[in-house]
Amino acid sequence: MAINNVKGTHDVIGVEANLYSEIENLLKQVAELYMYSEVRPPVLEYSELFVRGVGESSDVVRKEMYTFLDKGERSLTLRPEFTAGIMRLIVQNKLLATNDWPLKLYYCGPVFRYERPQLGRYRQFNQFGVEAVGHNSPINDVEVITMAYTMLVSLGLENVKIKINTLGDEESRLNYRQALKDYFKDKIDDMCEDCHSRYKLNPLRILDCKVPHDQEIVTGAPKMSEYLSEASKARFQVVCNALKEYDIPFEVDDNLVRGLDYYSETVFEFHYISQKGNDYGAIGAGGHYSHLVKEVGGPDVPGIGFSFGIERLASVITDDGLVPDNVAQKCDIYVMPLGEQNQIHALALANEARLLGYNVEMNFDNTKLGNMFKKAEKKGARVGVIIGDNEVANGTIILKNLLTKEQEEICLNEYIERLDQLLGENERECCCGEECGGQKKE
Ligand code: AMP
Repeated sequence: MAINNVKGTHDVIGVEANLYSEIENLLKQVAELYMYSEVRPPVLEYSELFVRGVGESSDVVRKEMYTFLDKGERSLTLRPEFTAGIMRLIVQNKLLATNDWPLKLYYCGPVFRYERPQLGRYRQFNQFGVEAVGHNSPINDVEVITMAYTMLVSLGLENVKIKINTLGDEESRLNYRQALKDYFKDKIDDMCEDCHSRYKLNPLRILDCKVPHDQEIVTGAPKMSEYLSEASKARFQVVCNALKEYDIPFEVDDNLVRGLDYYSETVFEFHYISQKGNDYGAIGAGGHYSHLVKEVGGPDVPGIGFSFGIERLASVITDDGLVPDNVAQKCDIYVMPLGEQNQIHALALANEARLLGYNVEMNFDNTKLGNMFKKAEKKGARVGVIIGDNEVANGTIILKNLLTKEQEEICLNEYIERLDQLLGENERECCCGEECGGQKKE
């Protein structure tokens, strides 16, 4: 019986895989403009890191972690998110010792959550994200949100909706938590099982409940904004004013609380509805955290970060027809040996062209030239390179322009120059400043 992929995982193949790489490269380029540098933490971490870092009341830790005992009876977890692991990496490698703060890092890779698989929701998916650690400036929050927005715009996504909110400082959250406890006290029995534990562990999380009946109850709950300390109110005001100043479109969403426990002060999400009207929900999200570095054994410094879901980005880009042309693989040259004995000569020609930067496919079937031409056409190749017994004996090659169907026999030593003329210079601008195909070149 065939073995299929694990439920909630997915194979990424061909053009889709190229699109993922293209998205990741663009995101990396923007991150580097902002002087972030790459880190690659391991997928496996000790489970305790996430329990302490992400927080026991989060759905991720309560229900969604892939946790197991290894052969040495250690409890390990496949990372369900990057941030806690990045904090561990920072502390363990003493990256904050330079005092050159904020320390700015970006990452990209798979994460694992045991969620109910559905459209756009996987158990293994990929995230790209950043963390800026060590500075509490609200303008640092603004820089991070601006960078995320620039990343989305650079992917061609202009209809992004940014939702932001503040969860305030500890004092604000303590007061708000109490107000929520009081509000939900006589309503909680009527609410879902998850909300019961949220009520005990972290009542803020109730605001994120997706059960329609519970959402109705949530509508009447007190608002965070009524419980903010003066300092948090002022901080949030600075963030909102600066975003306005930079023309970053956003709306304040009072019920935005985020699913992970470590957040404080500014939190945000990026939502997207495609031109066809498909709602992809959050394509990215993040926020500020006050004590996460300390929580994993480092100094008590704050940070801010966000992550994008690569699968969701790829879906909206595809839905909106924004897939860049260069993600489809192009074949420049198709090499056709006549007779098995000439494959060795053909491979040398293929490799020579690859060294010049051309994409080259070689035919290994011992078949007729007509069949090889059909394959070359299917691949979209522009030039055919043919080599048979006569050519080997004479030190020649046959080149065929597969677009114009013109064919010529050339000496081996003219091979590179002729390829460049047929493939390179036809597209490159000539010294005459026009795309004349090098005709006017002196
Ligand atoms: P989070 O770490 O939960 O804030 O998620 C950050 C981003 O990762 C989300 O905005 C989504 O784009 C993406 N994401 C989260 N969960 C999933 C999932 N189960 N499948 C695919 N993408 C996801």
